[in-house]
Amino acid sequence: MVTRESPAAHLQIVRTREALREALARAPRPVGLVPTMGWLHAGHRALIARAHAETATTVVSIFVNPRQFGDPADLAKYPRNEARDVAICAEEGADLVFAPSVEEVYPPGFDTSVRVGEVAQPLEGAARPGHFDGVATVVAILFDLVGAERAYFGQKDAQQLLVIRQMARDLAIPTEVIAHPTVREPDGLAMSSRNVHLSPAERAAAPAIRRALLAARECWQNGERSADILRDRMRAELSEEPLAEPDYVSVADATTLRELKTIDGPTLVSMAVRFGATRLIDNELLD
Ligand code: AMP
Repeated sequence: MVTRESPAAHLQIVRTREALREALARAPRPVGLVPTMGWLHAGHRALIARAHAETATTVVSIFVNPRQFGDPADLAKYPRNEARDVAICAEEGADLVFAPSVEEVYPPGFDTSVRVGEVAQPLEGAARPGHFDGVATVVAILFDLVGAERAYFGQKDAQQLLVIRQMARDLAIPTEVIAHPTVREPDGLAMSSRNVHLSPAERAAAPAIRRALLAARECWQNGERSADILRDRMRAELSEEPLAEPDYVSVADATTLRELKTIDGPTLVSMAVRFGATRLIDNELLD
């Protein structure tokens, strides 16, 4: 008789740096890493499934990183459900979940920060001081601990991707950074752990972000090359939605994130928009 192990029976959960290193010592290569802060949704599922398809061992980290939150209230209300997250990891074929405590990642006396330069400064970097220092620091630790051949990140956090690529290149970390397309709800809203905080009215209003980004894309496809006209087009689209309060609307060089006057190469169109207390980001790559 053939018995099949349930996926959950195979999945191993480790909580310490040492247990992670031990588990990885005997893991088949290549290893794929998917860093997350938990409260997993279809966007995370896609990253895990892709890592599973492309590597021999898939490691998912679940760690709500205090260093990347400026606002303690934002950190406190970040949604968590480890049991559900672990079940999702198992369903998508993960082999190892690394779910450390804050002290395990940042032991007493920890006093190092990884600070990426220019590409980390505008947009999310300007709106959330210290955010990318926290991201780069924790990802550098994870890259070193896991020693993965590949790590998977979502295009939804486009600036984060650029920051991590810069960090990995500069610190000579051999892990290949792979971008995965943004996974969306049927109405176009990018999946995000933060969507859970939206009231029904805010949730109904949130697809205005996608409409504004697609309006910019349409303008560009019709030949418009003035960045200001694209910004105006996006602001006009957002202003149709009374609950949408734009934080920034950007048309920037897709590599340096410098704001553009004229579009003449790969361009990242992005925005952060508040709906009540919830701040959402999304972007569209014009290439
Ligand atoms: P987070 O748990 O929000 O830190 O996200 C963990 C990883 O999942 C990051 O690489 C994100 O960019 C990625 N991610 C989050 N939302 C999505 C999405 N809707 N589609 C694709 N990837 C996503």
